[in-house]
Amino acid sequence: MAGRRAPDHAGVVETELFIAGKWVPASSGARFDVLDPATGDVLASVADANEADAMSAVDAAAAAAKAWAATPPRVRGEALRRAFELMTERADELAKLISLENGKALTDAKGEVTYAAEFFRWFAEEAVRGEGIVSTAPSGANRILVVRQPVGVCVLVTPWNFPAAMATRKIGPALAAGCTVILKPASDTPLTALAMAAILAEAGVPDGVVNVLPSRSSGKVVSKMLADPRVRKVSFTGSTEVGRVLLAQAAENVVNTSMELGGNAPFVVFADADLDAALDGAMIAKMRNGGEACTAANRFYVEEPIAEEFSRRLAERMSSLVVGPGTDEKTQVGPLVNEDTVAKVDSLVRDAVQGGAKVVTGGTRPAGPGFYYPPTVLTGLTGDAPILKEEIFGPVAPIVTFTSEDEAVRYANDTEFGLVAYVFTGNLARGLRVSEAIEAGMVGLNRGLVSDPAAPFGGVKQSGVGREGGHEGLLEYLESKYIAVNW
Ligand code: NAP
Repeated sequence: MAGRRAPDHAGVVETELFIAGKWVPASSGARFDVLDPATGDVLASVADANEADAMSAVDAAAAAAKAWAATPPRVRGEALRRAFELMTERADELAKLISLENGKALTDAKGEVTYAAEFFRWFAEEAVRGEGIVSTAPSGANRILVVRQPVGVCVLVTPWNFPAAMATRKIGPALAAGCTVILKPASDTPLTALAMAAILAEAGVPDGVVNVLPSRSSGKVVSKMLADPRVRKVSFTGSTEVGRVLLAQAAENVVNTSMELGGNAPFVVFADADLDAALDGAMIAKMRNGGEACTAANRFYVEEPIAEEFSRRLAERMSSLVVGPGTDEKTQVGPLVNEDTVAKVDSLVRDAVQGGAKVVTGGTRPAGPGFYYPPTVLTGLTGDAPILKEEIFGPVAPIVTFTSEDEAVRYANDTEFGLVAYVFTGNLARGLRVSEAIEAGMVGLNRGLVSDPAAPFGGVKQSGVGREGGHEGLLEYLESKYIAVNW
């Protein structure tokens, strides 16, 4: 394989575009830098795709579509299974790469590799389960036959916070269903996506089935592809703001869409909860990935009698976390991904403090290089504080107290988002009642982690449309074709 390689410490990674099974420079010759969030220094430079490159990728994906759709499901599944095995064999190397370009702590990066690889294993197994339906029409006039067919060429757009898992969560089901894809990774973290492309090629995925286009002109590149009638689906994970833009663009050609958008997860703790379990759950829900997760607990609502103890013990645990470069084995919290992200977290905390919040721990951005922010706990907020309305995307836990179940549910639903919610209670009936009443696509009931490749992941309200993972994840890449038959 040709192609310029990144001179990084994580092994050798291709840094060109991946189109039609080949590593190729951008047609303009342009490249862009990828930064190390721990220092702000340049880590590598990668090819910068433009609209002409986007068309080459669509050509490649369209040319490969018919043969891949006709490839036996078992063969498609076995390529995914092999990709799972290769990711598992290279877990340490991949984790280091993720940590280098994203900043997250190695333990988080290792967790991501396991999670990401599982999507390949799960969809290797699902590839053979694209079953249809045969039934008799209620009138008795004919049979109803429903077959599932691949949607076709898909554009996949992913964020920087889980550079491996957000890619495999889309590529796995797309390939299992018989679709071909063009992946446009986030420009902060393109190296992991390029490493995925190399693994899929090695696993036996034919040329053109998977194409990867790093680009600094994401808007132009994606919109050029969505305007091409050969593209039949866009699956996007990222902010609600960009999701709205893509939904509007997809409307032009009536392109099938899946949208995994922003979150603003409430974390509700009732006084009857097992407090140790609630604190363990809070640490996972808040601090997985340093708080840079769409599923991150963004707002803590704690019932009044236990609020003081919960806040104090959460602050103790948060303040004991080791902050440092993600690639350092001792680190538990790495830097945030870039300057904009850390500046936003800093300003949300400053505004909250100005509005009367009390800092129990953290709350001050350290001087020096890198995009660090300390684990922070805020109390004394009122239910309408601005920090509760926005996705913080950092290691900050604002805590509000409540006095009744109704109030807790009202607070939890006081957002335009509806991705995930966490509820802790020792009363199962209450737990299920509140889980049903909260407007969210997912609920962690006495659990701080919901993500699982075998379960349907996704949101309601402005958190998105569609589901990834589980059997639903496969259906997102299949069309149901109904054939009315007389026999
Ligand atoms: P983002 O700014 O929306 O970017 C996501 C992706 O879209 C990146 O690849 C980005 O490319 C690309 N993009 C930006 N503008 C575009 C445009 N006009 N047209 C087409 N593509 C465009 O989000 P992010 O900051 O990377 O990620 C954080 C967000 O993702 C958070 O809101 C988080 O909640 C959400 N998220 C949701 C889920 C979920 O499953 N619901 C999972 C993870 C993250 P560039 O990098 O080049 O800008």
